[in-house]
Amino acid sequence: MRFPSVRGREAPCQDWIAREFAARGWAVDRYTIADVPMEGLRGFAPVMDTNYDDAVQVVATLRAPQPTGRSLVIQGHVDVVPEGPHDMWTRAPYGGDVHDGRLYGRGACDMKQGVAAMVFALDALKSAGLAPAADVYAQTVTEEECTGNGALSTLARGYRADACLIPEPTANTITRAHVGVMWFRLRVRGVPVHVAHAQAGTNAILSAYTLIQALQGLTARINERAKTNPVFAAIPDPVKFNPGKIRGGDWASSTPAWCEVDCRIGVLPGTDLADARQEVLDTVAQAARGDHFLANNPPEVVWNGFQADPFVLPEGSDAEAVLAAAHHSVFGAAMEERRSTAVNDTRFYGIYYGMPALCYGPTGGGVHGFDEWADLATLRRTTLAIAAFVADWCGVRQI
Ligand SMILES: [Zn+2]
Repeated sequence: MRFPSVRGREAPCQDWIAREFAARGWAVDRYTIADVPMEGLRGFAPVMDTNYDDAVQVVATLRAPQPTGRSLVIQGHVDVVPEGPHDMWTRAPYGGDVHDGRLYGRGACDMKQGVAAMVFALDALKSAGLAPAADVYAQTVTEEECTGNGALSTLARGYRADACLIPEPTANTITRAHVGVMWFRLRVRGVPVHVAHAQAGTNAILSAYTLIQALQGLTARINERAKTNPVFAAIPDPVKFNPGKIRGGDWASSTPAWCEVDCRIGVLPGTDLADARQEVLDTVAQAARGDHFLANNPPEVVWNGFQADPFVLPEGSDAEAVLAAAHHSVFGAAMEERRSTAVNDTRFYGIYYGMPALCYGPTGGGVHGFDEWADLATLRRTTLAIAAFVADWCGVRQI
């Protein structure tokens, strides 16, 4: 919790985890995304202005001497999103305060508690005198919050298993589906003039706002279509569009000559990403045609970050049945399912590498907001459920 592992600063956290894994006697593969060629792989997300030389990934292998069971990837991400203004937090974002059964801080819920659960589930087996009877790969990755390239790098590096579990905070539900997500940057130009003669120039910030409104219109149309989507029909407005970051202009008394807006939009299952991208491009182009300046100076759309396919977990897999039984044994109730309007890393394992990819984990709140927290009582029970799942999926041997 005390590592501020925002993008580009995850290495100290990952190095510490690698040492923790090595101290357990696990075989540690610590590498960076820059070490792994991935361009051209399905699911790879293009990035600008991002250096992967320090993007440390960790894969620890618990090798079974004579495997008799089914192997498992158990994966969590340690990257966290920026904490925003600290004066709006009640508790220090990286303090790791525990109060009334809650652990507070950025990443407490999403998903350092899940990482803790998967590691301590393996420790729990050991303290019970057991070891998995098949190979287990404990992976901590980065880039989950922006591209997924960390998860993809583990697959590109060759790690495979008979199933994958990602303990994101799902409040102990199984994630039946998640939407796709695309990131793009709008680049808008303007004609700078003294604001005393603003009518002679154009304002790139206001032009960007026109494009944002057009994209909000597109989002509303997509959410109309969502009402008949076989996976997301029951969820109101499952596709979210977010202009999440903006910069532009140089001077309060000059009309801005430039504006850049970083955007995120969801994609419904059944929609091809290429088609979704085309809809964004068409919407921007159409809005630009309605503006004298933009019509002749078309805005650019740069795909920079997530190009994440939607994912639907097929029903009826053995892995899900084993997890449901493990959940029931701890919580005494059936494992419910959820459909997520955010993305997670399961798509890589599930879509591109044909592995049953389960997203199931503990609970908390304040994700991406202030005073993010994890519920420690549920975290303990989730750890137990994951330990039971590992034991039942992989089988166990006495140590
Ligand atoms: Zn997460």
